[in-house]
Amino acid sequence: MKVTVDTAVCADHGQCIFSAPQVFEFAEDGKLVWEPSPDESLRASVEEAADVCPVQAIRIAD
Ligand code: SF4
Repeated sequence: MKVTVDTAVCADHGQCIFSAPQVFEFAEDGKLVWEPSPDESLRASVEEAADVCPVQAIRIAD
């Protein structure tokens, strides 16, 4: 599974972090960082994160 975030539209709301804290987190500068190749076992939580993102910035491939 490949995860990308369109940082041009991501507004660092953080909803994705609540859904998938193993994949998304805020860096010390307050910007979102993420694991680009999370384990397949995390797919459901990553899909939930993509669903709750208010700007639909999260894309899942594979
Ligand atoms: S929920 Fe969407 S806009 Fe908010 S931090 Fe996550 S990817 Fe960015």
